Amino acid sequence: MSQRANALRAAVEQGLVGPERPVAGLLDLDGIRASAAALRDGFATPGVEVTHTFAVKAASLVPVLRLLAEEGIGAEVASPGELALARAAGVPPDRVVLDSPAKTPAELAEALALGVAVNADNFQELARLDRLVRPGTTAPLGLRVNPQVGGGTIGAMSTATATSKFGVALRDEGAADRVVRAFLDRPWLTRLHTHTGSQGVPLDLMAAGVRAAYELAERINHEAGRQQVRVIDIGGGLPVDFTSDDARPTFAEYASVLRATAPGLFDGRYGLVTEFGRALLARHGTVLARVEYAKSAGGRAIAVTHAGVQVATRTVFAPGAWPLRVLALDGKGRPKQGDPVLQDIAGPCCFAGDLVASARALPLLEEGDHVALLDTGAYYFSTHFAYNSLLRPAVHGHTGDPPRFRTLRRAQTLAELVTESGG
Ligand SMILES: *Cc1c(COP(=O)(O)O)cnc(C)c1O
Repeated sequence: MSQRANALRAAVEQGLVGPERPVAGLLDLDGIRASAAALRDGFATPGVEVTHTFAVKAASLVPVLRLLAEEGIGAEVASPGELALARAAGVPPDRVVLDSPAKTPAELAEALALGVAVNADNFQELARLDRLVRPGTTAPLGLRVNPQVGGGTIGAMSTATATSKFGVALRDEGAADRVVRAFLDRPWLTRLHTHTGSQGVPLDLMAAGVRAAYELAERINHEAGRQQVRVIDIGGGLPVDFTSDDARPTFAEYASVLRATAPGLFDGRYGLVTEFGRALLARHGTVLARVEYAKSAGGRAIAVTHAGVQVATRTVFAPGAWPLRVLALDGKGRPKQGDPVLQDIAGPCCFAGDLVASARALPLLEEGDHVALLDTGAYYFSTHFAYNSLLRPAVHGHTGDPPRFRTLRRAQTLAELVTESGG
């Protein structure tokens, strides 16, 4: 990936990262467009209307949402903040899906007024919708179901376990019957939604969850005597291989697993909605940080960098689940040469566990060098952790090779930090 190497070097040369600005995020905008095209192509099926949305929580940056909207990809939002970002990016309401598990009555009313799709999480939410839906309501309304097909390798990311907090647990006693009744009683309920998990869930398990939603839709439509369920929202969850540059599994591979598992989904009777996050963005982002000091303790080499828990929260708190590849770069942002030495890549925070990698074999880092945390385009720039009041770093987008940069989000300033902290 010489294009990535060129972008890292240029970012250092141009001072996007340097002594005064010791950490920043980079996003390859050409790469995001290529992934968007791969998503569209992977699911394209004659006669089937597919609406792709991007899970905003994976990269909550307005310019990214705007770029994706240009690529025909809408927004899956799960909070008033994410809805506001999607609106600021100009995402058309008919390409927005609201999925949060704890929507207030006011949020539901706003969504209906805007005409964005809403997936209710539970029967209580359906009862709230009963009071809000009017004859003129155009917002597509659906229900999230948990097919309880089981979890993947990361418990916190598995949303289709027996006891997951999301959706109506379909295999619970009487639940499927109750869902069917809820649809028959509500002619305006026209969608089913399922999302089996994010990262760590194998494709066949994801497809089994989608199949369960499809079978339920068939049953509802049969009992209704009409095509009441018209759209199935299959969620996101395509995993990313954080150990290599291998872009598999691809969207096309997942689509073909779905075609084999639930062929009726693609025969033209249903519209589809997708909500991918990580698989669209992860590959295209890098956290670039300066090595402030290089020291050793108990025989272990330690690089003290400016990338720690504030930018790589999950990796630091759950390193087994979220390992990252780290590149060692020299003071000019070029690949560092030298024999690999086991070293800890530490962050700037005041707690001992603030390590983005431990005992990692890399050329020995020195003061003034840099580290690059790869595949951090999803869930890193959007998941800042305000520990130690460290400033939210800037995120710069780049296009072309040699790269041209533009700032997608400027760094938080000390004055903003003080104000936000009640000062
Ligand atoms: C987080 C989430 C997604 C996106 O998951 P990825 O693993 O990033 O693709 C999609 N839908 C829902 C409901 C989610 O909670």
